[in-house]
Amino acid sequence: MLTLYNTLTRKKEEFNPLQAHTAGLYTCGPTVYNYAHIGNLRTYVFEDILKRVLQYNGYTVNHVMNITDVGHLTSDADEGEDKMEKGAKREGKTAWEIAEFYTQAFKQNLKDLHILEPNIWCKATDHIEEQINLVQKLTDKGFTYETSDGIYFDTTKLADYGKLANLQNQELKAGARVDLGEKRNAHDFALWKWSERSERHPEGDQPKSKRQMEWPAPFGAGQGQTRMGFPGWHIECSAMSAKYLGQPFDIHCGGIDHVPVHHTNEIAQSEAAYDKPLANYWMHGEFLLVNEGKMAKSENNFITLETLKEKGISPLAYRYFLLQTHYRKQLNFSWEALEASQTALKKLQQQVESLPDHKKQDSWFKDKFNEWINDDLNIPNALAWIWQAIKEKDITKETLLDFDKVLGLNLDAKEETIVIPTEVQNILDARLKARTEKNWTESDRLRDEIKKLNFDVEDTKEGQKINKL
Ligand SMILES: [Zn+2]
Repeated sequence: MLTLYNTLTRKKEEFNPLQAHTAGLYTCGPTVYNYAHIGNLRTYVFEDILKRVLQYNGYTVNHVMNITDVGHLTSDADEGEDKMEKGAKREGKTAWEIAEFYTQAFKQNLKDLHILEPNIWCKATDHIEEQINLVQKLTDKGFTYETSDGIYFDTTKLADYGKLANLQNQELKAGARVDLGEKRNAHDFALWKWSERSERHPEGDQPKSKRQMEWPAPFGAGQGQTRMGFPGWHIECSAMSAKYLGQPFDIHCGGIDHVPVHHTNEIAQSEAAYDKPLANYWMHGEFLLVNEGKMAKSENNFITLETLKEKGISPLAYRYFLLQTHYRKQLNFSWEALEASQTALKKLQQQVESLPDHKKQDSWFKDKFNEWINDDLNIPNALAWIWQAIKEKDITKETLLDFDKVLGLNLDAKEETIVIPTEVQNILDARLKARTEKNWTESDRLRDEIKKLNFDVEDTKEGQKINKL
């Protein structure tokens, strides 16, 4: 029996899918205006574990992940600049180029972390029509109103608005102190926004759009007319999850920061439109903290997977580091803990080789492992259990590699992959140059420099070979 903690009911529940042996899974994807930081990536590792546990339990998982490439403003509360357009200005590229570049970077991050790809990737800009139709449906049902900057969802029209985050009890009062502008209620949110246009030039130039990404929609225009605009952030997930998974579907996931605004508003839109639940289980991963604070692009404590590689930490060591803490607990980042994780992972990979190969009666190990992973993904205990089993030499290689289907730690790695820190790579490059110039003194000096950084270089026919000391 698989139990999962459901944010909606605030308790662990047995997982009962809508269709036997199948699980529909929607995970909110990245806003592709910059690199993902390792705090963002913690959420995707948790979701990957969930998916692997479902598969390990025999479910076929239909996994859909969106790419937000329009409409996510710098403030989650529909204010500020579109993050994509801001990224474009920052890098002197088009918003479309920015989206493509950071989408590829994100997919590379997933690959490096051994995260299984979703069955369906869907981009917000590829689903404008579905989003317009959904906004239209909500308008027809009386859930929306117009302001001078777009179409808004009236949250008071929905009796149970805010149920996911328990907003009724906690935040509505606080909201009363906020400057509403033209919004009727503090929690109302944008479904569609008009493109801002430049002022008409006195000599008669036509006003130009201030945006690169915009589409014609029938909102805020006369009968049979259209006006240029773009979707709000939340509407894409409601439109695309319904398209690919139907409504309701089984499990909806994201980071814990999605609870009060993004997921709350997805639920409002979808349930108002279709009069049925959006998803049956809602699961959320906790934050990664740096010096007790949340890691955020705006907070200047921005660490990417590349940063880790530059310091010689492999992405899988980061994965191992994450697996040691339950996904619903906050986790403190530290370089020391990462180093320790790298050492532990290496040791685990080495242990695999020394375990007995052939079948032995070790099914009770599997039972215990299953018990942990099926108890709301208790991977920390499953990992501790594995170490215990290895210590007692009672587990076969076959069983451990079977467990790795859930852990995704590449325990079958025949050859150790060395991550070369940038500092070492730079010296290696300089040493190669010295050797081409037959400057042996410099070459030897640089070898000593590399040794100081705990690496050793060997000169082979294929070139310089690096080993960790
Ligand atoms: Zn979403």
